[in-house]
Amino acid sequence: MVLDGAGDPSLLLGSEDVPPVLEDNAAGRSPFLLTCDHYGRSIPRMLGDLGLPATEFARHIAWDPGIAGVADALSKHLGAHLIAQRYSRLVIDCNRPPDAISSIPRISEATVIPGNEGLTRDAAEVRRRAVFDPYHRRIGEVIDRRLRDGVPTVLVSLHSFTCVYAGIARPWHIGTLYHRDTRLPPLLLKLLRDEPDLVVGDNEPYAVSDETDYTIPVHGEARGLMNSGIEIRQDLIADEAGQRQWAERLARIFGEIETALRAQRLL
Ligand SMILES: [Zn+2]
Repeated sequence: MVLDGAGDPSLLLGSEDVPPVLEDNAAGRSPFLLTCDHYGRSIPRMLGDLGLPATEFARHIAWDPGIAGVADALSKHLGAHLIAQRYSRLVIDCNRPPDAISSIPRISEATVIPGNEGLTRDAAEVRRRAVFDPYHRRIGEVIDRRLRDGVPTVLVSLHSFTCVYAGIARPWHIGTLYHRDTRLPPLLLKLLRDEPDLVVGDNEPYAVSDETDYTIPVHGEARGLMNSGIEIRQDLIADEAGQRQWAERLARIFGEIETALRAQRLL
């Protein structure tokens, strides 16, 4: 069954629905501020199952599988504030400008999303106000507070990517994704490439653009923060052991990055 809310965002999220924003280590002292746009795959009860079988919600079209476990553990290792979003990207994609066609996708990879077909402007607006806005408002508030308090802030946006997309296998274990920042990405790339067992993508499998992304352009670039996205291949973080290992590896690498940035007086 597919239902739609319109008008007031409180019509979309009821008392039985989880809040969209999840935070961990809000008092953490790390310069790294972690965000996770595709952390969860919840669907507001009001929207039913969007007309999809349950199997689709295990796939990358609904969320970034594995990244939640990595984000939780990395936040703890670094003592870094994590701000994550619990609703499926099929409800509204929190890393797309809300006016982009892919914000509320009618088709994702090759799957038609029945609950997103013929959506009215009002219904799209309700999703934005209930899910997208609170998440990005919170990231903005946290950055405001950190800047006001003189807390160094480096934005790291965490994602995972599917091993095979549209029939093409991806060779990278991990990729950086960035656009305008020239400080963090080269350092991150160098340290990842120093790991002998990794195939590292430089803006692969995705690059950042103002048209296709939101978190990095709006919260990183427009605020003048050092920033990068990270994409980890999903088969490597499919279980808890993989998530733990990747979090430990990234914590070690971000520790080295912090030391290097302090030596360059960038923090
Ligand atoms: Zn993602």
